[in-house]
Amino acid sequence: MIKVAVNGYGTIGKRVAEAISLQGDMRLVGISKTKPNYEAIYAQRIGMRLYVPETSLREFEEAGIEPAGTVEDMIREAEVVVDATPGGIGASYKPLYASLGRRAVFQGGEKAQIADVSFSSLCNYGEAVGRDYVRVTSCNTTSILRVLCTLNRISRISKVRVVIVRRAADPKEMGRGPINSLVPDPVEIPSHHTADVKSVIKGLDVVTMAVIAPTTLMHFHLLDLHFFTSTSKRDVIEVLMGTPRILLVRGGSGVKSTAEILEVMRDVGRRRGDLYEVAVFEDSINVRGEEVFLTYAVHQEAVVIPENVDAVRAVSGYGDAKGSILATDSSLGVRKGYLI
Ligand code: NAD
Repeated sequence: MIKVAVNGYGTIGKRVAEAISLQGDMRLVGISKTKPNYEAIYAQRIGMRLYVPETSLREFEEAGIEPAGTVEDMIREAEVVVDATPGGIGASYKPLYASLGRRAVFQGGEKAQIADVSFSSLCNYGEAVGRDYVRVTSCNTTSILRVLCTLNRISRISKVRVVIVRRAADPKEMGRGPINSLVPDPVEIPSHHTADVKSVIKGLDVVTMAVIAPTTLMHFHLLDLHFFTSTSKRDVIEVLMGTPRILLVRGGSGVKSTAEILEVMRDVGRRRGDLYEVAVFEDSINVRGEEVFLTYAVHQEAVVIPENVDAVRAVSGYGDAKGSILATDSSLGVRKGYLI
């Protein structure tokens, strides 16, 4: 059993912690919380052990929550730490992980240099096996990499252009915007996602451009990809349908928006209504010789969760990428094929 601690229990951390506790080969040591708020109360109610910064011990006790120990105690008990603290905070924890000799999985909000490898299960699982520090790329980059490493099985990719429509905030982030605006972010082209994609697929001719839109549900990508040789729509659909963690939105299903995609997840009873898969609109797929156009939606809160679980296995020395993907996906109910 791999002993795993989750440091940072927000949007990503809470999902990773639950996913870890569903794995047959992992044991969740506990999670860290900095404030005794509703998330801490719920985590304790569902049986998770809470660890807090030493300076917060008293605040938690006063709120009626008995912590299992300090964050450092939690890290000592674990073999692997999944760091899901806000971007930049993970870097400040790295010296502690290193001094205690713990392996760590960081998130996309950290700089790529924090880790030995930037990670995508479908692209480079093998590079992360046995490494001390791995970084799961951001939600946008994780989805781009899934699509590229899938399409690359048809033929070698010569160049890629992606327009990223970014959600403004996660649903719970009531203080963020924009409210009624489109914000180029970053305004420069390429956006930072380009370097992130290249941290995994080195040397690829890729340009990403990004704009923030007033939605909290999902990101949306418009992709224009060139192969070295020509292909067909049939080949594209076939390879997407046969790949785990990618779903096709069928034309006749009546699903025409990000809102309806997530409604399907609620209807089928996914935990929190989460969509771990990338949702490609089948009717958007247009092939002109060597060029492929398609669009897809990305649930930012959920898409990186399977990759985090795989990254824990990889740093622990488990070398079978397909085996890990299968174990992760069957525990979470992650699928391939049509959305509905
Ligand atoms: P979040 O703000 O929802 O959660 C972060 C948690 O860490 C909070 O509970 C916060 O209280 C806690 N925290 C803050 N300082 C801490 C400290 N010093 N020690 C321990 N815990 C601390 O953030 P998030 O959205 O879950 O993002 C976490 C990471 O995941 C970031 O790197 C982010 O870029 C990345 N990420 C976020 C998303 C997304 O859409 N939310 C998607 C993919 C990747």
